[in-house]
Parts: sequence; structure tokens; C-alpha cells
Amino acid sequence: MNQTPDKARPTPRAGIMDIEAYVPGKSTAPAGVAKVYKLSSNENPLGPSPKAIEAAREVAARLDVYPDGTARRLREAIAEVHGLNPTNIVCSNGSDEILGLLAQTYLAPGDEAIITEHAFMVYKIYIQSAGATPVSVKETDERADVDAILAAVTPRTRIIFLANPNNPTGTYVPFQEVRRLHAGLPRNVLLVLDAAYAEYVRRNDYEAGVELVAGAENVVMTRTFSKIGLGGARIGWMYAPLHIVDAINRVRGPFNVNATAIEAGIAAIRDRAHVERSVAHNETWLAWVSEELTRLGLRVTPSVGNFVLIHFPEDKKHSAAAADDYLTARGYILRRVSGYGFPNALRMTIGTEEANRGVVAALKTFLKS
Ligand SMILES: *Cc1c(COP(=O)(O)O)cnc(C)c1O
Repeated sequence: MNQTPDKARPTPRAGIMDIEAYVPGKSTAPAGVAKVYKLSSNENPLGPSPKAIEAAREVAARLDVYPDGTARRLREAIAEVHGLNPTNIVCSNGSDEILGLLAQTYLAPGDEAIITEHAFMVYKIYIQSAGATPVSVKETDERADVDAILAAVTPRTRIIFLANPNNPTGTYVPFQEVRRLHAGLPRNVLLVLDAAYAEYVRRNDYEAGVELVAGAENVVMTRTFSKIGLGGARIGWMYAPLHIVDAINRVRGPFNVNATAIEAGIAAIRDRAHVERSVAHNETWLAWVSEELTRLGLRVTPSVGNFVLIHFPEDKKHSAAAADDYLTARGYILRRVSGYGFPNALRMTIGTEEANRGVVAALKTFLKS
């Protein structure tokens, strides 16, 4: 055993080396594949808003100047589009950053934070980074179970992280249920509603979190520009009560949102036509892909996001791993989700028409092989 004495070199805080690093979706296919379709990170198949591209180009000439540390104009643009007060918004380097800041600010060693069985993985990483204990709660039918979450609350619970809709399942918790969850929580427990896919949800009983935040002291909603065309720009934000805004503003980096992100973000959120085109494309192709894959005999978890979770048969020849190899060899890059508790499933981002048709055709041949 090579036990390193504490004095021999710097040692991370207790618990840090227990963290399993996040593994992002693949982006490359084997050499020789003519065309690569990246369907592994839930990006927008329509790409960035052309207006965001233009704004990013323009800011390039002024990259010597520090950005506005409060991202005021970006907050105002977000506030205007969503009908919010800009003082209740904090912007961040992707919503991942804000999730991490919330954990860092509200969790201490010995505290517990609740996540659900198949939840987005970064929560666990940030909970452990803060020295706190992640408590994973069973889901029902691949959906967060409000009663199970409430039953897991203890005097040590400080945060509940709820992705709504969740990634990688694509399932959502209706507003009445989220409200019931909130009503059942002690007032010192923070409910984090991660609405990364809110733009894509087309359900009357869904609410991203604005209403709950507005009426409570212990709810925040986090959002991102990543899934609607700006994953590379890294722009996230939270809508939160002022006392939480105040705490996070003390902890965050003074210039956490860069100048390019600010300008691209302002242009993107104002380009409602691009958002609407993206959402309409997803609505059409999410339904088509789900239906076609079901017709092939594959189980698809009903999704309201811009991706689907595809479950593969038990026989080894047609497992998710085999399907992944088969698709990758043909340029279709999907996401393995074993780490999310789905060893025999793949997550597929809804892509362009060409990509969607290509995956369905390839899987049809694969399943017959
Ligand atoms: C993609 C995603 C995020 C964060 O994305 P950022 O690019 O960091 O803004 C947050 N939550 C869920 C559930 C996601 O899928």
C-alpha cells in the first residue's frame, strides 16, 4: 500500500477523493465515419441563435475589458422575457455553477441533501464537495416520488435537489405535486428546482418554479441557456428570494459570467423566434422518435424534454452497450447512462430530421441482426 503521509504533499479535504468525476457525453466517432451526429449532450439541433453568433462576434473586439460583474443587462433581459424582477436573478457560468454555489453555501459536513434515484449526477458531486451526505431516494416509474422524498427528510436535511424535468429520464413532476412537496418541507430546508429543460415542456400541469419562488423563502429555480442553443457559452441563472441572492453573491466569483456569454445570452433570449423554432422542432421530433422506437419494440420512458431514454432488450446481442457500439460505428453518438442506474439504456438527444431518421433506421437493422 502506498499510504501517503499527510505531511508529504497537499491532501484534499476528507471526502473529496470519494467523488466520482462527472463523465460528459462522447463527441467523437471512430475514424472513417463520414458524418458524426452528436446526440449525447442534449444540445439544440438548430444550433445557436444567429443573433447570438453575431453578438459574440461583436464582443470579440472588446475582450480586453472586464465584464460587468453583476451581469445586469443579461439579468434584465431574462427578467423582461420571463416577467421577473432582475434583482431576484443571479447569473452563472452554466447552471452547474449555481448548483455548486448553492451546495457550497447551504451545506456543511454532517448535513444531508436529498436527490432522487436517477437524478442528474452533478448534484451528488456538489453535495460531496461541500462535505455533506447525499441521500438518494427511490423513484416510482422512473419519476421523482414526492412521498418518498418527504419521508427521507431528517433534522439534518438542508437541501432537496429536484430536476424537473429530470435528466436522463425526461419525466416531470406536475406543479400540484411540487407544491405538495414544498408544503411538506420544514421551512429551513431549501428546495432547488432545476428546470434546465423548462423551455421544452409542453404540459398544462407543469410550472418551472417561478410561482413557488415568488411565494416562499426556501425555494430557488435554476435555468440554463445550454439546452436551447448555447451550451458552449456556459450561461445559467437562478431565480431566488433576495436573502439567497445576497448569500450567493458573496460566494460567487466576481466575474463568473464572461463578456461573450453576457452578450450572446442577451441576444439569444431576445430572439424568441429561434426559441420557438427550437421548441416546435422538438415537439414534432420527440413524438416521432418516441413512437418509432416504441414501434421497434423498444421501451422509451415518456419524455417532456429534448431527449429520450431508450431501454434495450435483455439479450446480450441487443443490449444498450451493443447498440451503442453499432450506432457509434455509424456516426450516431448517444449517451451511456449506466452511472444513472440504467445499465441497459441509452439516452438520445432529439436531433435534426436526418439524425433522428438515421438512428431509427440503424436501430431497426440492429434489432434484426
Ligand atoms: C444540462 C443540465 C444542467 C446544466 O447545464 P449547464 O450547461 O451547466 O447550464 C442542469 N441540470 C440538468 C438536469 C441538466 O440536464
